[in-house]
Amino acid sequence: MAQGVWTIAEQRDGAIRKITYEIVSEGRRLADALGQELTVILLGSNIKDKAAELGQYGADKVLVCDDPKLEPYTTDAYVSAISGLVKDGDPAVLLVGASVEGKDLASRLAARLDVAMAQDCTAFAVEDGNLVAIRPIYAGKAYAKVTFENSFPQMAAARPKVMEMNEPDASRSAEVVDAKFTLDDLKTKVLDVVKDEGGKVDLTEADKIVSGGRGMKGPENYKILEDLAALIGASVGASRSVVDAGWRPHSDQVGQTGKVVSPNLYVACGISGAIQHLAGMSTSKVIVAINKDEDAPIFQKADYGVVGDLFDVVPALTEEVKKYL
Ligand SMILES: Cc1cc2nc3c(=O)[nH]c(=O)nc-3n(C[C@H](O)[C@H](O)[C@H](O)COP(=O)(O)OP(=O)(O)OC[C@H]3O[C@@H](n4cnc5c(N)ncnc54)[C@H](O)[C@@H]3O)c2cc1C
Repeated sequence: MAQGVWTIAEQRDGAIRKITYEIVSEGRRLADALGQELTVILLGSNIKDKAAELGQYGADKVLVCDDPKLEPYTTDAYVSAISGLVKDGDPAVLLVGASVEGKDLASRLAARLDVAMAQDCTAFAVEDGNLVAIRPIYAGKAYAKVTFENSFPQMAAARPKVMEMNEPDASRSAEVVDAKFTLDDLKTKVLDVVKDEGGKVDLTEADKIVSGGRGMKGPENYKILEDLAALIGASVGASRSVVDAGWRPHSDQVGQTGKVVSPNLYVACGISGAIQHLAGMSTSKVIVAINKDEDAPIFQKADYGVVGDLFDVVPALTEEVKKYL
């Protein structure tokens, strides 16, 4: 019988990504609810020394897959290694982060394992010994509660920055095991990785985001958002209209066809709040909207709203913030 909760660690250039700590923490809570062990699979090259950290966040066991072919990430190498381990280990639950990489991995892995998978989940529970997942549907207009029938492992991907992260406990440690895995039939090889310039924090990992829409009137005006963002340590995002207009790169786009973000603070400037935009940011912890139209739909989602001209409000806000720094 399938037993145990497993999660997959995400790392880049040997550094564990925050989503990993989030799903390990959530995995710990689910393992406790099921009365079972939590195992984390860590893949990469020369990565074993990172296993101890995972124990501090709640892992009982870390299966380390160490091979130069696992760095950087490729779908087929990761799926090959993980699917073999999962078939042998037969876990009851398998959690992946719904980051860009994790979404890619989870879909292919579910297909390889021939199991059901709930993508981009915002909450989990255990009911009658089964995993129950909550996930947004219809571009975030509704939430579906889903569970799994006769499909093991019960597999789900967790939206980044939504699961509560445990405080690391230095007294906790995990059993670290060199996993026996196979890398069969690899069809892809990464020749080069071109990094985003400027070392910007990826929007999906940003703690604060200041976003601009068509109300910005032109690309040259983003300077006022960049000034505010730099002051409060935020990343700059955008609506699709401005990306389509070529004012901002696609990597800045928030929404259904852009990035799904859940920062602690999301400041929407000159963004109307179309459903496709809300789909990407409505799980932000605090939403501030600045819009000159008091009937703009964004105000229905906002925790704080300023009805006014953003070209007056944003610089005034920036000046006000400076007083507190
Ligand atoms: C299949 C599909 C997928 C999509 N995916 C996405 C997506 O991923 N992300 C996304 O964002 N959109 C997406 N869209 C587009 C979406 O429907 C909207 O068209 C888009 O979000 C609108 O962008 P906006 O709010 O910047 O522009 P607008 O809707 O034009 O809103 C501009 C806002 O700025 C305000 N404004 C103007 N001047 C000022 C000023 N001086 N001060 C203050 N406020 C001002 C206006 O009152 C208005 O509310 C998608 C659409 C489709 C059909």
